[in-house]
Amino acid sequence: CGIVGIAGTRDCAGQILDALRRLEYRGYDSAGIATLVSGQIDRRRAIGKLSALDLVIKDRPLPGHTGIGHTRWATHGKPSEANAHPHATSKVAVVHNGIIENYRELKAELIAKGHHFESETDTEVCAHLVTAYMDDGLSAESAAKKAIRRLHGAYALAMIFRGEEGLLIGARMGSPLAVGYGDKEAYLGSDAFALAPFTNRVSYLDDGDVVVIRGNAVTIYDSADRPANREVKITAASA
Ligand code: GLU
Repeated sequence: CGIVGIAGTRDCAGQILDALRRLEYRGYDSAGIATLVSGQIDRRRAIGKLSALDLVIKDRPLPGHTGIGHTRWATHGKPSEANAHPHATSKVAVVHNGIIENYRELKAELIAKGHHFESETDTEVCAHLVTAYMDDGLSAESAAKKAIRRLHGAYALAMIFRGEEGLLIGARMGSPLAVGYGDKEAYLGSDAFALAPFTNRVSYLDDGDVVVIRGNAVTIYDSADRPANREVKITAASA
């Protein structure tokens, strides 16, 4: 129900937790964070409140400068740790708000290709679809874009990729997603309020947009994959 992403310059799990707390008002049943640790995807998830996730991370710290976080309001699959986001393969981790309406078809196609699913969510197909395209030889960016174009329904998405420090890809169709511009970092969040501790410069994506963040360089593509300008709004500072 809430999404946060950071392409950062320091360990970001604490920052992600702070931003997720600012999305708590939307309600949620579980939460999780994934980061790149020496280029590999690692994650921590917990059912219940963000304080439970905080305890898991205190017990098993999660370093890493590039990361994504999520508060989940279950629509497909019960509230459980296995169904909590991020959903991941060894190559990509994904957080998602909304519903992927054609997930059954995509899941059947991916299972036929040999993919193994660990959750009951609609979301997990995103991770496996991107992975399938990367297995075919596509770059992370091309694979993510190709996968996103196959999703039907309402979504806001954020993804990180193995071996791609500083790369964060987001997409919006029917669920809000904002990009935050920092001096050395860039951010994704469900709203500007979530990003207020980090920056007051924010653009909202339009439906069909995909955003590719590499470090602090942000490129937004429209639904025809053309670079697009989205107004940068200066929000009231409220860190
Ligand atoms: N449909 C997804 C799930 O049930 C995402 C729910 C949400 O927006 O939090 O896991």
